[in-house]
Amino acid sequence: MTVTVAIVGRPNVGKSTLFNRLVGRKIALVDDTPGVTRDRREAEGRIADLKFRVLDTAGFEDVRDGSLEDRMRQQTELAIREADVILFMIDARAGVVPLDERFAQVLRRAGKDVHLIANKAEGREAQAGLVEAFRLGFGEPIPLSAEHGLGMADLHSIVSEAI
Ligand code: GDP
Ligand code: MG
Repeated sequence: MTVTVAIVGRPNVGKSTLFNRLVGRKIALVDDTPGVTRDRREAEGRIADLKFRVLDTAGFEDVRDGSLEDRMRQQTELAIREADVILFMIDARAGVVPLDERFAQVLRRAGKDVHLIANKAEGREAQAGLVEAFRLGFGEPIPLSAEHGLGMADLHSIVSEAI
């Protein structure tokens, strides 16, 4: 059985950047505009020898069909249902913001394997955010830089444990 890995979190934390790195192609749209990914995307992801299914979740900026909160919950709950492994991503440079806390609430109820990923962790600006991340209640945050490819060995361990 193929393991399904879902990348969830608020807009602009770097979910699509990680997705693209795992998939090795520019499938997910990456943009400086928060929440620019409009559709959920899935593809085969790889880290070295590991192959798995990876889901990138959309942004929630389009509030025409329900509130931001509703869309966030819908997307996240769909991903949670399908996923064996959930990567809950925050931006270590921004620290923990209220929207991260709301994601944490939804994820806590999931009863699934949730790993807290502190992205944009390259450089010293990430240190405070890494410490703050503990308060989300998912244990030790895994420092990652999706853009620079740092932390991929830790992701490898997480995914291989689920296989
Ligand atoms: P998403 O909305 O969560 O899918 O975020 P994106 O993948 O679209 O990325 C949002 C912004 O963060 C883009 O400008 C990315 O280039 C930037 N970004 C992504 N990963 C990193 C990282 O590891 N370090 C830094 N400094 N910026 C990153
Ligand atoms: Mg995106």
